[in-house]
Amino acid sequence: MKIYSPFISGAFVDWDGETLPSVDPASGRVWCKVARCNAQTADRAIRNAERAFRSGPWAKSGPTERADMLDQLADALEARWEDLIAPEIRDNGKRIAEVRGQFAGLHNWFRYFAAEARKLQPEPQANTITGVQSVGHHVPYGVVVAITPWNSPLMILAWKLAPALAAGNTVVVKPSEMASASTLEFARLAHEAGLPPGVLNVVTGLGHEVGEALVRHPLTRKVTFTGSDFGGRKVAEAASAGVVPAVLELGGKSPQVVFADCDLDNAVNGILSGIFLSNGQTCVAGSRLIVEARLKEKLVSRLIDRARALKIGDPVDPQTQIAPLANEPHLRKVTAMIERAKDDGADCLLDGTLTAADREGFYVGPTVFGNVRPDMQLWREEVFGPVLAVTPFTTEDEAIALANDSDYGLAAGVWTSDADKGARVARAIEAGTVYINHYRSVDPASPIGGVKLSGYGRELGPDAIKDFCQVKSIWTGTAPVPDPFP
Ligand code: NAD
Repeated sequence: MKIYSPFISGAFVDWDGETLPSVDPASGRVWCKVARCNAQTADRAIRNAERAFRSGPWAKSGPTERADMLDQLADALEARWEDLIAPEIRDNGKRIAEVRGQFAGLHNWFRYFAAEARKLQPEPQANTITGVQSVGHHVPYGVVVAITPWNSPLMILAWKLAPALAAGNTVVVKPSEMASASTLEFARLAHEAGLPPGVLNVVTGLGHEVGEALVRHPLTRKVTFTGSDFGGRKVAEAASAGVVPAVLELGGKSPQVVFADCDLDNAVNGILSGIFLSNGQTCVAGSRLIVEARLKEKLVSRLIDRARALKIGDPVDPQTQIAPLANEPHLRKVTAMIERAKDDGADCLLDGTLTAADREGFYVGPTVFGNVRPDMQLWREEVFGPVLAVTPFTTEDEAIALANDSDYGLAAGVWTSDADKGARVARAIEAGTVYINHYRSVDPASPIGGVKLSGYGRELGPDAIKDFCQVKSIWTGTAPVPDPFP
Protein backbone atom coordinates (compact mmCIF):
# COMPACT_ATOMS: atom_id res chain seq x y z
CA MET A 1 0.00 0.00 0.00
CA LYS A 2 1.18 3.50 -0.83
CA ILE A 3 2.65 5.36 2.17
CA TYR A 4 3.04 9.10 1.80
CA SER A 5 5.91 10.64 3.74
CA PRO A 6 6.26 14.37 4.46
CA PHE A 7 7.54 16.65 1.68
CA ILE A 8 10.34 18.85 3.02
CA SER A 9 12.88 20.95 1.17
CA GLY A 10 11.97 19.66 -2.27
CA ALA A 11 11.75 15.91 -1.54
CA PHE A 12 9.70 13.23 0.18
CA VAL A 13 11.75 12.47 3.29
CA ASP A 14 12.33 8.96 4.63
CA TRP A 15 9.64 7.99 7.10
CA ASP A 16 9.69 5.00 9.43
CA GLY A 17 7.43 6.47 12.11
CA GLU A 18 3.71 6.03 12.75
CA THR A 19 1.18 6.40 9.96
CA LEU A 20 -2.50 7.25 9.66
CA PRO A 21 -4.86 5.44 7.28
CA SER A 22 -6.70 7.32 4.56
CA VAL A 23 -10.06 5.72 3.84
CA ASP A 24 -11.81 5.78 0.46
CA PRO A 25 -15.32 7.05 1.33
CA ALA A 26 -16.92 5.24 -1.62
CA SER A 27 -15.85 1.82 -0.32
CA GLY A 28 -14.96 2.38 3.30
CA ARG A 29 -11.56 0.76 2.66
CA VAL A 30 -8.08 2.12 3.42
CA TRP A 31 -6.37 3.12 0.15
CA CYS A 32 -3.14 4.77 1.40
CA LYS A 33 -1.37 5.83 4.57
CA VAL A 34 0.18 9.15 5.52
CA ALA A 35 2.90 9.94 8.03
CA ARG A 36 1.70 10.84 11.51
CA CYS A 37 4.19 13.67 11.89
CA ASN A 38 5.17 15.00 15.28
CA ALA A 39 6.73 18.13 16.76
CA GLN A 40 10.16 17.04 15.50
CA THR A 41 8.94 16.84 11.90
CA ALA A 42 7.23 20.20 12.34
CA ASP A 43 10.53 21.69 13.52
CA ARG A 44 12.40 20.21 10.55
CA ALA A 45 9.88 21.59 8.07
CA ILE A 46 9.77 25.05 9.62
CA ARG A 47 13.57 25.29 9.80
CA ASN A 48 13.88 24.32 6.14
CA ALA A 49 11.24 26.88 5.20
CA GLU A 50 13.05 29.52 7.25
CA ARG A 51 16.35 28.67 5.52
CA ALA A 52 14.72 29.05 2.10
CA PHE A 53 13.32 32.39 3.21
CA ARG A 54 16.71 33.68 4.40
CA SER A 55 19.05 32.40 1.70
CA GLY A 56 19.03 30.88 -1.76
CA PRO A 57 17.12 31.76 -4.93
CA TRP A 58 13.79 32.52 -3.27
CA ALA A 59 15.34 34.89 -0.74
CA LYS A 60 17.07 36.78 -3.53
CA SER A 61 13.99 37.02 -5.75
CA GLY A 62 11.92 40.17 -6.14
CA PRO A 63 8.22 40.38 -7.01
CA THR A 64 8.89 39.96 -10.74
CA GLU A 65 10.94 36.78 -10.36
CA ARG A 66 8.35 35.41 -7.96
CA ALA A 67 5.59 36.25 -10.42
CA ASP A 68 7.50 34.40 -13.15
CA MET A 69 7.81 31.42 -10.81
CA LEU A 70 4.07 31.42 -10.09
CA ASP A 71 3.35 31.59 -13.82
CA GLN A 72 5.64 28.60 -14.33
CA LEU A 73 3.70 26.73 -11.66
CA ALA A 74 0.43 27.77 -13.35
CA ASP A 75 1.78 26.39 -16.67
CA ALA A 76 2.55 23.07 -14.99
CA LEU A 77 -0.92 22.95 -13.44
CA GLU A 78 -2.55 23.64 -16.80
CA ALA A 79 -0.57 20.78 -18.30
CA ARG A 80 -0.90 18.25 -15.46
CA TRP A 81 -4.00 19.03 -13.34
CA GLU A 82 -5.59 15.72 -14.28
CA ASP A 83 -2.77 13.87 -12.43
CA LEU A 84 -4.05 15.36 -9.17
CA ILE A 85 -7.66 14.19 -9.49
CA ALA A 86 -7.41 10.56 -8.38
CA PRO A 87 -5.74 11.11 -4.99
CA GLU A 88 -8.23 13.80 -4.03
CA ILE A 89 -11.27 11.70 -4.97
CA ARG A 90 -9.96 8.64 -3.15
CA ASP A 91 -9.32 10.75 -0.05
CA ASN A 92 -12.52 12.75 0.22
CA GLY A 93 -15.00 11.17 -2.22
CA LYS A 94 -15.83 14.39 -4.02
CA ARG A 95 -17.53 13.59 -7.32
CA ILE A 96 -15.36 13.77 -10.38
CA ALA A 97 -17.38 16.44 -12.19
CA GLU A 98 -16.75 18.89 -9.34
CA VAL A 99 -13.09 17.97 -8.91
CA ARG A 100 -12.50 18.45 -12.63
CA GLY A 101 -14.23 21.83 -12.43
CA GLN A 102 -12.00 22.96 -9.56
CA PHE A 103 -8.73 21.54 -10.90
CA ALA A 104 -9.12 22.73 -14.50
CA GLY A 105 -9.07 26.25 -13.05
CA LEU A 106 -6.40 25.80 -10.35
CA HIS A 107 -3.82 27.63 -12.45
CA ASN A 108 -6.00 30.78 -12.44
CA TRP A 109 -5.39 31.45 -8.75
CA PHE A 110 -1.63 31.44 -9.37
CA ARG A 111 -1.86 33.56 -12.53
CA TYR A 112 -3.97 36.18 -10.76
CA PHE A 113 -1.51 36.54 -7.88
CA ALA A 114 1.46 36.50 -10.26
CA ALA A 115 -0.10 39.54 -11.95
CA GLU A 116 -0.75 41.17 -8.56
CA ALA A 117 2.88 40.57 -7.53
CA ARG A 118 4.05 42.50 -10.58
CA LYS A 119 2.02 45.49 -9.37
CA LEU A 120 3.54 45.46 -5.89
CA GLN A 121 5.53 48.67 -5.53
CA PRO A 122 6.89 50.69 -2.62
CA GLU A 123 4.29 53.31 -1.69
CA PRO A 124 5.39 56.90 -0.96
CA GLN A 125 3.67 58.10 2.20
CA ALA A 126 2.08 61.56 2.34
CA ASN A 127 3.70 62.57 5.62
CA THR A 128 3.49 66.21 6.67
CA ILE A 129 7.03 66.61 8.00
CA THR A 130 9.39 68.80 6.02
CA GLY A 131 12.91 67.67 5.23
CA VAL A 132 12.16 63.96 5.21
CA GLN A 133 10.40 61.47 2.95
CA SER A 134 8.93 58.14 3.93
CA VAL A 135 8.09 55.15 1.81
CA GLY A 136 6.14 52.00 2.74
CA HIS A 137 7.71 48.72 1.58
CA HIS A 138 5.65 45.53 1.61
CA VAL A 139 7.89 42.88 3.13
CA PRO A 140 6.96 39.22 3.55
CA TYR A 141 6.46 37.77 7.03
CA GLY A 142 8.79 34.77 6.65
CA VAL A 143 7.46 31.28 7.34
CA VAL A 144 3.68 30.98 6.88
CA VAL A 145 1.83 27.94 8.24
CA ALA A 146 -1.20 26.99 6.14
CA ILE A 147 -3.69 24.54 7.66
CA THR A 148 -6.40 23.18 5.38
CA PRO A 149 -9.58 21.05 5.69
CA TRP A 150 -10.65 17.94 3.79
CA ASN A 151 -13.51 19.23 1.70
CA SER A 152 -11.58 20.97 -1.12
CA PRO A 153 -7.92 20.52 -0.17
CA LEU A 154 -6.24 21.84 -3.30
CA MET A 155 -8.54 24.72 -4.13
CA ILE A 156 -8.34 26.04 -0.57
CA LEU A 157 -4.57 25.51 -0.59
CA ALA A 158 -4.32 27.58 -3.79
CA TRP A 159 -6.22 30.46 -2.14
CA LYS A 160 -3.55 30.56 0.58
CA LEU A 161 -0.44 29.55 -1.30
CA ALA A 162 -0.70 31.82 -4.34
CA PRO A 163 -0.81 35.15 -2.42
CA ALA A 164 1.58 33.92 0.30
CA LEU A 165 4.23 32.98 -2.28
CA ALA A 166 3.55 36.05 -4.43
CA ALA A 167 4.38 38.11 -1.33
CA GLY A 168 7.72 36.28 -0.92
CA ASN A 169 6.98 34.06 2.09
CA THR A 170 7.83 30.39 2.38
CA VAL A 171 5.11 27.99 3.43
CA VAL A 172 4.59 24.84 5.50
CA VAL A 173 1.23 23.20 4.78
CA LYS A 174 -0.63 20.87 7.13
CA PRO A 175 -3.47 19.29 5.16
CA SER A 176 -6.33 17.46 6.84
CA GLU A 177 -5.43 14.02 8.16
CA MET A 178 -8.51 12.83 6.24
CA ALA A 179 -7.27 14.10 2.87
CA SER A 180 -3.55 14.74 2.51
CA ALA A 181 -2.57 12.91 -0.69
CA SER A 182 -3.49 15.54 -3.30
CA THR A 183 -1.56 18.21 -1.36
CA LEU A 184 1.55 15.99 -1.33
CA GLU A 185 1.19 15.32 -5.06
CA PHE A 186 0.75 19.05 -5.61
CA ALA A 187 3.99 19.77 -3.72
CA ARG A 188 5.82 17.28 -5.94
CA LEU A 189 4.39 18.98 -9.05
CA ALA A 190 5.30 22.46 -7.78
CA HIS A 191 8.86 21.37 -7.11
CA GLU A 192 9.13 19.78 -10.58
CA ALA A 193 7.82 23.06 -11.99
CA GLY A 194 10.83 24.83 -10.50
CA LEU A 195 9.76 26.04 -7.06
CA PRO A 196 13.02 26.12 -5.07
CA PRO A 197 13.48 23.58 -2.24
CA GLY A 198 12.06 24.69 1.09
CA VAL A 199 9.61 27.20 -0.37
CA LEU A 200 6.68 24.77 -0.10
CA ASN A 201 6.75 21.99 2.49
CA VAL A 202 4.00 19.59 3.55
CA VAL A 203 3.73 17.77 6.86
CA THR A 204 0.86 15.42 7.58
CA GLY A 205 -0.81 14.21 10.74
CA LEU A 206 -3.23 15.24 13.44
CA GLY A 207 -4.22 18.83 14.08
CA HIS A 208 -3.69 18.82 17.82
CA GLU A 209 -0.28 17.17 17.38
CA VAL A 210 1.70 18.40 14.39
CA GLY A 211 -0.74 21.20 13.47
CA GLU A 212 -0.43 22.82 16.86
CA ALA A 213 3.37 22.25 16.91
CA LEU A 214 3.63 24.21 13.64
CA VAL A 215 1.52 27.09 14.92
CA ARG A 216 3.49 27.27 18.18
CA HIS A 217 6.91 27.05 16.51
CA PRO A 218 9.01 30.12 17.38
CA LEU A 219 9.98 30.65 13.71
CA THR A 220 6.36 30.70 12.46
CA ARG A 221 5.45 34.25 11.50
CA LYS A 222 1.87 33.95 10.22
CA VAL A 223 -0.89 31.35 10.19
CA THR A 224 -3.71 30.89 7.73
CA PHE A 225 -6.34 28.37 8.76
CA THR A 226 -9.48 26.97 7.14
CA GLY A 227 -11.59 24.56 9.11
CA SER A 228 -14.14 24.25 11.88
CA ASP A 229 -14.72 26.94 14.49
CA PHE A 230 -13.50 24.43 17.11
CA GLY A 231 -10.16 24.03 15.31
CA GLY A 232 -10.05 27.76 14.60
CA ARG A 233 -10.27 28.63 18.29
CA LYS A 234 -7.41 26.25 19.11
CA VAL A 235 -5.27 27.70 16.35
CA ALA A 236 -6.06 31.28 17.38
CA GLU A 237 -5.09 30.49 20.99
CA ALA A 238 -1.83 28.85 19.95
CA ALA A 239 -0.98 31.67 17.53
CA SER A 240 -1.71 34.37 20.07
CA ALA A 241 0.73 32.75 22.51
CA GLY A 242 3.52 33.58 20.08
CA VAL A 243 2.00 36.94 19.03
CA VAL A 244 1.53 35.53 15.54
CA PRO A 245 -1.33 36.83 13.36
CA ALA A 246 -3.85 34.26 12.14
CA VAL A 247 -6.48 34.40 9.42
CA LEU A 248 -9.41 32.11 10.26
CA GLU A 249 -11.83 30.86 7.60
CA LEU A 250 -14.36 28.86 9.57
CA GLY A 251 -17.76 27.30 9.24
CA GLY A 252 -21.13 28.69 8.28
CA LYS A 253 -24.89 28.31 8.55
CA SER A 254 -25.70 30.43 5.56
CA PRO A 255 -29.26 31.64 4.91
CA GLN A 256 -30.99 31.67 1.53
CA VAL A 257 -33.69 34.37 1.79
CA VAL A 258 -36.34 33.81 -0.88
CA PHE A 259 -39.07 36.35 -1.61
CA ALA A 260 -42.30 35.42 -3.39
CA ASP A 261 -41.45 37.76 -6.28
CA CYS A 262 -38.29 35.82 -7.22
CA ASP A 263 -37.63 34.04 -10.49
CA LEU A 264 -38.53 30.59 -9.17
CA ASP A 265 -36.43 28.54 -11.61
CA ASN A 266 -33.35 30.59 -10.74
CA ALA A 267 -34.00 30.31 -7.04
CA VAL A 268 -34.47 26.54 -7.23
CA ASN A 269 -31.17 26.13 -9.08
CA GLY A 270 -29.37 28.45 -6.66
CA ILE A 271 -30.74 26.71 -3.58
CA LEU A 272 -29.93 23.24 -4.95
CA SER A 273 -26.39 24.30 -5.81
CA GLY A 274 -26.04 25.96 -2.40
CA ILE A 275 -26.87 22.90 -0.34
CA PHE A 276 -26.38 19.79 -2.50
CA LEU A 277 -23.20 20.48 -4.50
CA SER A 278 -20.33 18.61 -2.83
CA ASN A 279 -23.08 16.92 -0.83
CA GLY A 280 -23.36 19.99 1.38
CA GLN A 281 -19.71 19.81 2.42
CA THR A 282 -18.89 23.38 1.54
CA CYS A 283 -18.31 26.26 3.91
CA VAL A 284 -20.84 28.44 2.05
CA ALA A 285 -23.55 25.74 2.01
CA GLY A 286 -26.89 27.57 1.96
CA SER A 287 -28.31 25.41 4.71
CA ARG A 288 -31.13 27.62 6.07
CA LEU A 289 -33.91 28.28 3.57
CA ILE A 290 -35.88 31.31 4.79
CA VAL A 291 -38.83 31.56 2.42
CA GLU A 292 -41.79 33.92 2.17
CA ALA A 293 -44.75 31.98 3.56
CA ARG A 294 -46.94 32.27 0.44
CA LEU A 295 -44.21 30.73 -1.72
CA LYS A 296 -43.17 28.03 0.71
CA GLU A 297 -45.22 25.06 -0.47
CA LYS A 298 -44.55 25.62 -4.15
CA LEU A 299 -40.81 26.16 -3.65
CA VAL A 300 -40.33 23.28 -1.24
CA SER A 301 -42.21 20.81 -3.43
CA ARG A 302 -40.10 21.85 -6.45
CA LEU A 303 -36.91 21.45 -4.40
CA ILE A 304 -37.91 18.05 -3.10
CA ASP A 305 -38.81 16.77 -6.58
CA ARG A 306 -35.43 17.87 -7.89
CA ALA A 307 -33.48 16.64 -4.86
CA ARG A 308 -35.18 13.23 -4.88
CA ALA A 309 -34.16 12.74 -8.52
CA LEU A 310 -30.45 13.43 -7.96
CA LYS A 311 -28.36 10.40 -8.84
CA ILE A 312 -26.45 9.02 -5.87
CA GLY A 313 -23.37 7.10 -6.94
CA ASP A 314 -19.68 6.47 -7.14
CA PRO A 315 -17.61 9.67 -7.14
CA VAL A 316 -15.60 8.56 -10.20
CA ASP A 317 -18.77 8.07 -12.30
CA PRO A 318 -19.27 11.29 -14.32
CA GLN A 319 -23.06 10.80 -14.06
CA THR A 320 -23.02 10.89 -10.24
CA GLN A 321 -24.70 13.90 -8.70
CA ILE A 322 -24.48 12.96 -5.02
CA ALA A 323 -21.26 11.28 -3.90
CA PRO A 324 -20.50 9.95 -0.40
CA LEU A 325 -19.66 12.06 2.60
CA ALA A 326 -15.93 12.39 3.08
CA ASN A 327 -15.29 10.16 6.06
CA GLU A 328 -16.92 7.89 8.62
CA PRO A 329 -16.83 10.21 11.66
CA HIS A 330 -18.50 12.82 9.48
CA LEU A 331 -21.16 10.30 8.36
CA ARG A 332 -21.92 9.61 12.02
CA LYS A 333 -22.13 13.33 12.79
CA VAL A 334 -24.48 14.09 9.88
CA THR A 335 -26.82 11.14 10.60
CA ALA A 336 -26.89 12.05 14.31
CA MET A 337 -27.91 15.61 13.44
CA ILE A 338 -30.68 14.32 11.17
CA GLU A 339 -32.01 12.11 13.98
CA ARG A 340 -31.78 14.97 16.47
CA ALA A 341 -33.75 17.27 14.12
CA LYS A 342 -36.51 14.64 14.00
CA ASP A 343 -36.47 14.35 17.81
CA ASP A 344 -36.61 18.14 18.12
CA GLY A 345 -39.86 18.16 16.14
CA ALA A 346 -38.78 19.37 12.68
CA ASP A 347 -40.76 17.80 9.79
CA CYS A 348 -38.55 15.44 7.81
CA LEU A 349 -39.80 16.00 4.24
CA LEU A 350 -37.01 14.08 2.51
CA ASP A 351 -34.80 11.67 4.45
CA GLY A 352 -31.38 11.08 2.91
CA THR A 353 -30.48 8.40 5.43
CA LEU A 354 -33.14 6.20 3.81
CA THR A 355 -32.44 6.96 0.12
CA ALA A 356 -28.79 5.99 0.55
CA ALA A 357 -29.27 3.17 3.05
CA ASP A 358 -28.44 0.27 0.70
CA ARG A 359 -24.96 1.54 -0.24
CA GLU A 360 -21.50 0.61 0.94
CA GLY A 361 -19.43 3.63 1.82
CA PHE A 362 -20.36 6.82 3.64
CA TYR A 363 -23.53 7.87 1.83
CA VAL A 364 -26.31 10.24 2.89
CA GLY A 365 -28.69 11.60 0.27
CA PRO A 366 -30.36 15.02 0.05
CA THR A 367 -32.43 15.73 3.15
CA VAL A 368 -35.04 18.46 3.70
CA PHE A 369 -36.65 19.49 6.99
CA GLY A 370 -39.66 21.82 7.31
CA ASN A 371 -40.80 23.83 10.32
CA VAL A 372 -37.30 24.34 11.65
CA ARG A 373 -37.21 26.84 14.52
CA PRO A 374 -34.24 28.97 15.64
CA ASP A 375 -34.03 27.13 18.95
CA MET A 376 -33.30 23.80 17.21
CA GLN A 377 -29.82 22.37 16.75
CA LEU A 378 -30.45 22.12 13.00
CA TRP A 379 -30.87 25.89 12.82
CA ARG A 380 -27.89 26.78 14.99
CA GLU A 381 -25.16 24.26 14.16
CA GLU A 382 -23.31 23.56 10.95
CA VAL A 383 -24.13 20.10 9.53
CA PHE A 384 -21.63 20.31 6.65
CA GLY A 385 -23.82 17.80 4.81
CA PRO A 386 -26.81 17.69 2.44
CA VAL A 387 -29.42 18.86 4.94
CA LEU A 388 -31.68 21.84 4.22
CA ALA A 389 -33.66 23.50 7.03
CA VAL A 390 -36.79 25.39 5.89
CA THR A 391 -38.45 28.23 7.82
CA PRO A 392 -41.17 30.62 6.57
CA PHE A 393 -41.38 34.41 7.06
CA THR A 394 -44.01 37.04 6.33
CA THR A 395 -42.24 40.44 6.39
CA GLU A 396 -38.88 41.68 5.12
CA ASP A 397 -37.81 42.63 8.63
CA GLU A 398 -38.66 39.17 9.87
CA ALA A 399 -36.63 37.62 7.06
CA ILE A 400 -33.59 39.74 7.96
CA ALA A 401 -33.94 38.95 11.66
CA LEU A 402 -34.12 35.23 10.90
CA ALA A 403 -31.13 35.41 8.54
CA ASN A 404 -29.07 37.14 11.24
CA ASP A 405 -30.23 34.80 14.01
CA SER A 406 -27.06 32.74 13.77
CA ASP A 407 -23.67 32.60 15.43
CA TYR A 408 -22.15 32.36 11.96
CA GLY A 409 -21.84 34.88 9.12
CA LEU A 410 -20.02 33.46 6.14
CA ALA A 411 -22.36 33.77 3.14
CA ALA A 412 -26.01 34.39 2.23
CA GLY A 413 -28.31 34.39 -0.78
CA VAL A 414 -31.20 36.77 -1.53
CA TRP A 415 -33.74 35.91 -4.23
CA THR A 416 -36.08 38.65 -5.47
CA SER A 417 -36.96 40.46 -8.68
CA ASP A 418 -37.05 43.78 -6.80
CA ALA A 419 -33.52 45.21 -7.15
CA ASP A 420 -33.97 47.75 -4.33
CA LYS A 421 -35.22 45.11 -1.94
CA GLY A 422 -32.36 42.79 -2.92
CA ALA A 423 -29.76 45.50 -2.24
CA ARG A 424 -31.46 46.51 1.03
CA VAL A 425 -31.61 42.97 2.39
CA ALA A 426 -28.06 42.18 1.24
CA ARG A 427 -26.78 45.20 3.17
CA ALA A 428 -28.72 44.18 6.28
CA ILE A 429 -27.50 40.58 6.40
CA GLU A 430 -24.44 40.00 8.57
CA ALA A 431 -22.15 37.94 6.34
CA GLY A 432 -18.81 38.24 4.58
CA THR A 433 -20.40 37.50 1.18
CA VAL A 434 -23.98 38.00 0.00
CA TYR A 435 -25.19 36.84 -3.40
CA ILE A 436 -28.31 38.39 -4.97
CA ASN A 437 -30.09 36.10 -7.47
CA HIS A 438 -26.97 33.99 -7.64
CA TYR A 439 -25.05 31.66 -5.34
CA ARG A 440 -21.65 30.24 -4.61
CA SER A 441 -19.23 31.87 -7.11
CA VAL A 442 -15.66 32.49 -6.00
CA ASP A 443 -13.05 34.40 -7.95
CA PRO A 444 -9.46 35.45 -7.26
CA ALA A 445 -10.46 39.12 -7.48
CA SER A 446 -13.21 38.89 -4.84
CA PRO A 447 -12.28 38.64 -1.13
CA ILE A 448 -13.97 35.95 0.95
CA GLY A 449 -14.21 35.45 4.67
CA GLY A 450 -16.62 35.58 7.53
CA VAL A 451 -17.98 37.57 10.42
CA LYS A 452 -18.91 36.28 13.88
CA LEU A 453 -18.02 32.57 14.37
CA SER A 454 -17.21 32.24 10.67
CA GLY A 455 -13.83 33.77 11.40
CA TYR A 456 -11.79 36.86 10.70
CA GLY A 457 -9.50 38.16 8.00
CA ARG A 458 -10.12 37.76 4.29
CA GLU A 459 -8.65 35.60 1.55
CA LEU A 460 -8.35 36.45 -2.14
CA GLY A 461 -8.91 39.83 -3.75
CA PRO A 462 -6.41 42.50 -4.76
CA ASP A 463 -5.28 43.10 -1.15
CA ALA A 464 -4.50 39.45 -0.42
CA ILE A 465 -0.78 39.79 -1.22
CA LYS A 466 -0.51 42.74 1.13
CA ASP A 467 -2.20 40.64 3.83
CA PHE A 468 0.79 38.30 3.56
CA CYS A 469 3.19 41.25 4.01
CA GLN A 470 3.99 43.73 6.71
CA VAL A 471 4.60 47.37 5.82
CA LYS A 472 8.05 48.62 6.65
CA SER A 473 8.29 52.43 6.62
CA ILE A 474 11.67 53.70 5.50
CA TRP A 475 12.36 57.38 6.23
CA THR A 476 15.03 59.32 4.33
CA GLY A 477 16.19 62.78 5.37
CA THR A 478 16.33 65.30 2.52
CA ALA A 479 17.49 68.33 4.54
CA PRO A 480 19.97 68.91 7.37
CA VAL A 481 18.82 67.58 10.73
CA PRO A 482 18.05 70.59 12.97
CA ASP A 483 19.89 70.90 16.29
CA PRO A 484 17.49 69.33 18.84
CA PHE A 485 18.82 71.56 21.67
CA PRO A 486 19.28 74.99 20.10
P1 NAD B 1 -11.16 20.84 11.28
O1 NAD B 1 -11.19 22.11 12.06
O2 NAD B 1 -11.45 19.58 11.97
O3 NAD B 1 -9.73 20.64 10.61
C1 NAD B 1 -9.19 21.58 9.71
C2 NAD B 1 -7.69 21.47 9.76
O4 NAD B 1 -7.24 21.94 11.03
C3 NAD B 1 -7.15 20.04 9.65
O5 NAD B 1 -5.96 20.06 8.90
C4 NAD B 1 -6.89 19.67 11.09
O6 NAD B 1 -5.93 18.66 11.24
C5 NAD B 1 -6.40 21.00 11.63
N1 NAD B 1 -6.53 21.17 13.08
C6 NAD B 1 -7.53 20.73 13.88
N2 NAD B 1 -7.26 21.07 15.16
C7 NAD B 1 -6.10 21.74 15.17
C8 NAD B 1 -5.30 22.33 16.19
N3 NAD B 1 -5.63 22.27 17.49
N4 NAD B 1 -4.15 22.96 15.83
C9 NAD B 1 -3.78 23.01 14.54
N5 NAD B 1 -4.49 22.44 13.52
C10 NAD B 1 -5.64 21.82 13.84
O7 NAD B 1 -12.14 21.07 10.02
P2 NAD B 1 -12.53 19.98 8.90
O8 NAD B 1 -13.52 19.05 9.50
O9 NAD B 1 -11.31 19.44 8.25
O10 NAD B 1 -13.25 20.90 7.81
C11 NAD B 1 -14.60 21.22 7.85
C12 NAD B 1 -14.79 22.62 8.41
O11 NAD B 1 -14.06 23.55 7.61
C13 NAD B 1 -16.23 23.07 8.35
O12 NAD B 1 -16.56 23.73 9.54
C14 NAD B 1 -16.25 24.05 7.19
O13 NAD B 1 -17.25 25.01 7.23
C15 NAD B 1 -14.89 24.67 7.30
N6 NAD B 1 -14.50 25.27 6.03
C16 NAD B 1 -14.45 26.65 5.94
C17 NAD B 1 -14.12 27.26 4.72
C18 NAD B 1 -14.06 28.76 4.59
O14 NAD B 1 -13.50 29.24 3.60
N7 NAD B 1 -14.59 29.53 5.53
C19 NAD B 1 -13.85 26.46 3.61
C20 NAD B 1 -13.90 25.07 3.74
C21 NAD B 1 -14.22 24.50 4.96
